[in-house]
Amino acid sequence: MTTLVMKFGGTSVGSPTAINQTVEIIQRYKKEWDHIVVVVSAMSGVTDKLIRSAQTAADGDIQTCMNIIAELQTHHQNTIGELFPDNGYQIRLGELINNHISELSAYCRSIHVLGEVTARGMDTIVSLGERMNARIVAARLARNGQKSEAVDATQLIITDDNFQNALPNMDLTRTAIQNVLNAFFFDDTVPIVTGFIGATEEGIITTLGRGGSDYTAAILGDCLDADEVWTWTDVDGVMTADPRMVSDARVIPEVSFNEISELAYFGAKVLHPKTIRPIMERDIPLWVKNTFNPEYPGTRITQKSSAVAGKVTAISIIRDLSMITVEGRGMMGVPGIAARTFSAVANVGASVLMISQASSEQSICFVIPTSASAGVIQSLEREMALEITRRDIDRVWSMDEIVIVTAVGAGLRHTPGISARIFGALGQAGINVIAIAQGSSEYSISIVLSADEGEDAMQQIHKEVIINGQNSN
Ligand code: ASP
Ligand code: MG
Repeated sequence: MTTLVMKFGGTSVGSPTAINQTVEIIQRYKKEWDHIVVVVSAMSGVTDKLIRSAQTAADGDIQTCMNIIAELQTHHQNTIGELFPDNGYQIRLGELINNHISELSAYCRSIHVLGEVTARGMDTIVSLGERMNARIVAARLARNGQKSEAVDATQLIITDDNFQNALPNMDLTRTAIQNVLNAFFFDDTVPIVTGFIGATEEGIITTLGRGGSDYTAAILGDCLDADEVWTWTDVDGVMTADPRMVSDARVIPEVSFNEISELAYFGAKVLHPKTIRPIMERDIPLWVKNTFNPEYPGTRITQKSSAVAGKVTAISIIRDLSMITVEGRGMMGVPGIAARTFSAVANVGASVLMISQASSEQSICFVIPTSASAGVIQSLEREMALEITRRDIDRVWSMDEIVIVTAVGAGLRHTPGISARIFGALGQAGINVIAIAQGSSEYSISIVLSADEGEDAMQQIHKEVIINGQNSN
């Protein structure tokens, strides 16, 4: 028996035309595979609107909140109207949507009264986007003659109660998925599973973090021991760089899990970062494909890398960062400063993207999101108060408006000369490098730059090590 899990992202199910296209793809592959499981996101833009509805309610702006809810209702009702012009589905689905919308306004009214929205409340609210859409897609498929039903992943993905970023309990989840979905397979019914959401053992709705539908697909692939997982999106595959910044960016035909993890970590919005692990451990091939260009093969992500020595696979950028520096002559040779620095950072819950220490040991610098910078500095000043009074540490400061540009490639391993080419290209373009770090995996080189030079740096590096690099191979 062959099993395929296919996930359709927000734009792939974001309009009547897109939904029709998605349904066509499902039907096409239903003929080629024994079992098909579909995961859908909310219609594009819907999750953001749901969040805004709750936030405006909490802020006391009930008028804006109600406007957003009305927009959501019209958007879904119009979609149904276009998809089912002439039959009973329209009425039945229309009622379902209206019930969800009433649920939403009831939640928002209580949020308005309470003046705050909890993480738990937010998860229940955002879950509505996927829940409404799974019903629409399942009905559309059923109308085409393919038996299909929406499944709330609250029945399948059993998580802890870390709302907004819940972690599945894989044992419970595996059993639930197999129990529920085997009945569908037996009945030749295609399950349309809500991405992004789960529930605690007690049945309280949770979410897996923004963009979590990819992760849902990976969990399903793992638990069903699927042969392949495909994520359908609106681009031809994983690109060598963001095409909005680098016009000659191209699709990567094949890339390894390790490279993808590194790219996801460094800001390329290809896949939810947690997606990779479950399917990598089982060695399930993952494809990224384009709903609007389904004939194009897309990108295949696999265990083994097809690394060519010296070849850079892709370049990504993370914005809105700050570099924090702890510096002082008295730090030299004093053990424990680094440990204390990073525990002070961890105490305020900030995640560190990159670290570098000068070999003179007179400074430690690291990069964090700017949103965390004020808290981190405070925490460091508290931790190092004594050293600061003694002048062992001269200052703790933050440089804002910086970005990290990262070049990723399995081919970077043990290949001398690549960094020289990257820095040569940047030097020639007059771009100033603030700090650098090489990933210990040797899969990446990261460069800290001033934000206004980020895009130019992307273009220069892409030209030097991807476009020219390929020609010279
Ligand atoms: N709808 C959710 C989001 O926008 C999950 C997803 O699309 O993957 O974050
Ligand atoms: Mg998405």
